[in-house]
Amino acid sequence: MLQAVAERLKRCLRSSDTLARGEVAAAGDTVARLGGDEFIVLLTDMARGEDAAKVARRILEALADPFRLDEQEVFITGSLGISVFPHDGEDADTLLKNADTAMYHAKDAGRNGYQFYSGSMNAAAFQRLSMENNLRRALERDEFLLHFQPQVDVATGAIVGAEALVRWRHPELGLVSPADFIPLAEETGLILPIGEWVLRRACVQARAWQDAGYPPLHMAVNISGRQFRQQLLVRSVEQAVAAAGYDPRRLELEITESVLMRSAEETVRTLRHLKEMGSRISVDDFGTGYSSLNYLTRFPIDALKIDQSFVRDITTDPADAAITTAVIAMAAGLKLEVIAEGVETPEQVAFLRRQGCHLMQGYHFSRPVPAEEFEKLLQAKAGAPRLSQATG
Ligand code: C2E
Ligand code: MG
Ligand code: MG
Repeated sequence: MLQAVAERLKRCLRSSDTLARGEVAAAGDTVARLGGDEFIVLLTDMARGEDAAKVARRILEALADPFRLDEQEVFITGSLGISVFPHDGEDADTLLKNADTAMYHAKDAGRNGYQFYSGSMNAAAFQRLSMENNLRRALERDEFLLHFQPQVDVATGAIVGAEALVRWRHPELGLVSPADFIPLAEETGLILPIGEWVLRRACVQARAWQDAGYPPLHMAVNISGRQFRQQLLVRSVEQAVAAAGYDPRRLELEITESVLMRSAEETVRTLRHLKEMGSRISVDDFGTGYSSLNYLTRFPIDALKIDQSFVRDITTDPADAAITTAVIAMAAGLKLEVIAEGVETPEQVAFLRRQGCHLMQGYHFSRPVPAEEFEKLLQAKAGAPRLSQATG
């Protein structure tokens, strides 16, 4: 029995590694039997202590299948205690002692479960788990929606584009910001179906506005790191535009600088495919990643989005003003478009205009709003002259 359990532990450790950390198995993970019916599992290199809960759940699942010993089916359960370095102890003795205490709590709590030594870790693990389960169901339950933020050409006042920004209408928490769930979606892989939904929805909306007779718009969609690196991105973009009957040349994909930089060769290949379809590529949060400026000439990029962290203080901080001015000049030299994000005040608008940046996005013009409200913005502009070809 002990040997069979040891085998299962080893097996579920190996496969759980990638689940828990989204990386290759760490070399230092160990299973050992201390004595009696107690095993120790040592996980190294965890991103977060709470992630040990994932491994714990897999172990419990692995033990739940009956064992066959001499034609006998045997059912067992396990109780796990978890201690986390350095939170619960800085040396092996303390960590083992605290894991042991936690294990007795797990037994007291009804067996077949796991407990962290620290209560706060228990709460964090529970919260993550319930968040993850909710996120998993959110697509089926149709809880995502898109808000749209106008991109304005200040030279003409025309709305030349819209950035689609996803929101999650959580049953209890209300509207959850992407900053709070995109990282979890990335880690769990849920970003792939969510990202696909966003692409499709954004294209359908853009096409609807086109059919309603509004001047042509770019629709900008954010692509996360994991989405960008998956093989199927080009396919899902193709399918989204085809299903919506939307012109791919009006679709703009926003990819952050740090994602672009991660693997230059693959990046070039993926970008080429997207360009072949005619879609535009913009570099989101430009200036916040570790820039190697030489990629700007090697990657087929259309536009740079100056990050709001620079724009915020352009009128008060000479360093941010200098960086912004340099980015605008560089973009002009490289024949790239440049758009400033997070523009909130008339002073920022004036400064950016003086430097030659005419495309802007930010609360000064509008917050991201639901589709119906965006349409009202389009209607308000409908009388204004249409000189939006600047971004053509
Ligand atoms: P981002 O693409 O850089 O989007 C700009 C963010 O700045 C948005 O936050 C927007 O609401 C906010 N913003 C716009 N104007 C202003 C302003 O004047 N002042 C200030 N303080 N903020 C402004 P949001 O919607 O919370 O999105 C945050 C990030 O989440 C986005 O940053 C993007 O990286 C990510 N995200 C949003 N939607 C999606 C999506 O559909 N897919 C993926 N992969 N990521 C998304
Ligand atoms: Mg963006
Ligand atoms: Mg940005």
